[in-house]
Amino acid sequence: MKDKQKRFFLSESEIPTQWYNIQADMVNKPMPPLNPATKEPLKAEDLYPIFAEELARQELNQTDAWIDIPEPVLEMYKYYRSTPLVRAYGLEKALGTPAHIYFKNESVSPVGSHKLNSALPQAYYNKMQGVTNITTETGAGQWGAALSYAAKVFGLECAVYQVKISYNQKPYRRSIMQTFGATVEASPSMSTRAGKDIITRDPMNQGSLGTAISEAIELAMSTPNCKYTLGSVLNHVALHQSIIGLEAEKQMAMAGEYPDMVIACFGGGSNFGGVAFPFMRHNILDGKKTQFIAAEPASCPKLTRGVFQYDFGDEAGMTPLLPMYTLGHSFKPASIHAGGLRYHGAGVILSQLMKDGYMEAVDIEQLDSFRAGVLFARTEGIIPAPESCHAIAATIREALKCKETGEAKTILFNLSGHGFVDMSAYDSYFSGEMQNYHVSDEDLSKFISSADALNK
Ligand SMILES: *Cc1c(COP(=O)(O)O)cnc(C)c1O
Repeated sequence: MKDKQKRFFLSESEIPTQWYNIQADMVNKPMPPLNPATKEPLKAEDLYPIFAEELARQELNQTDAWIDIPEPVLEMYKYYRSTPLVRAYGLEKALGTPAHIYFKNESVSPVGSHKLNSALPQAYYNKMQGVTNITTETGAGQWGAALSYAAKVFGLECAVYQVKISYNQKPYRRSIMQTFGATVEASPSMSTRAGKDIITRDPMNQGSLGTAISEAIELAMSTPNCKYTLGSVLNHVALHQSIIGLEAEKQMAMAGEYPDMVIACFGGGSNFGGVAFPFMRHNILDGKKTQFIAAEPASCPKLTRGVFQYDFGDEAGMTPLLPMYTLGHSFKPASIHAGGLRYHGAGVILSQLMKDGYMEAVDIEQLDSFRAGVLFARTEGIIPAPESCHAIAATIREALKCKETGEAKTILFNLSGHGFVDMSAYDSYFSGEMQNYHVSDEDLSKFISSADALNK
């Protein structure tokens, strides 16, 4: 029997110095984003008014499999990377499974989630280009917190539009952003036309990610030297997150294992792509047969019940049209506690890979996710973010299947963040107030068909 080493770390010199761009290795490349007015494919230059130029180029780069991590970003990564790869002996024992369960612990980053892996390079590339202000939207506040800190590190001003319901329900994430020096506005706000329009029509509107995106883009377009940033969905975000899987690949080798399954929760797909793509590369190039499972909330089921078509990335229809699995850009997800998973679409690369059968998806009910999160906390000592609870629930499902069949599969899942700022969600679970939300086929088809016209 192998020794029972529990945690695997890389030394600073072993931390990967390049990100992995799966687009270069994909058999079917992602279809291009389209200009909504002309339906013409967009070029990187078309994205320059909104995004830093290097990020726009990374977004559409389908040729370079490896992209150098800039030295100043690598230096910042070294404050918290490598993140530990942990063998979850406690969880295995509680489940009585022969499966070997490993998790990559991204919750140890200074802001408590994987989001910093992309916030740092995004702030850096903007700074290098002479941008002075960056803006973004945030739901639960994980991305806003990461960007606020990254902006401070590289000397940028940062303005965050936080979805109004979260701004009021999660005051501590707002304080975190303010502590790092960002300006935080509840969205919809009166500071943009998009926000004003919504408030005028509906004064009690509690906001949505789609609305907050529209506001942040409007600010970026109307302010000199100000660019927009996004914490998920886009290709360059998944690129930066590949650091997770690249480290995990080395750490799994230290453990003498290779995953049969890789599992992560799925909002727009960045932590999933981050942990999965470096392993999926070997499925594409070397005939490995690893299974990749995205865990999405049953109340926002874009991969399991959405359709693959062109749709807007935001509610107001200001973004380019993206080819993705979507529930329709006007889809209104139930207010589940996993705020980071309440997004109507899946990233473009992930959508193409899903369509081509390289990955699969499962949906997880809210109560199941918290049941899994509580078991994980009690067996591994880490309180997971509500988003991460979905990955844990999917992992437990697979580990219990192994118990039935007696197969000792090796499962790797990504722990995308901790839940210390989400304890009110756990309170709601323990008090019995928490509920599941069902989306009827009828509702789904209504929202999805609203996007059909865009594909004519
Ligand atoms: C934002 C977030 C997610 C979902 O975003 P992805 O881009 O799908 O990874 C998951 N977990 C945590 C902790 C988050 O903050």
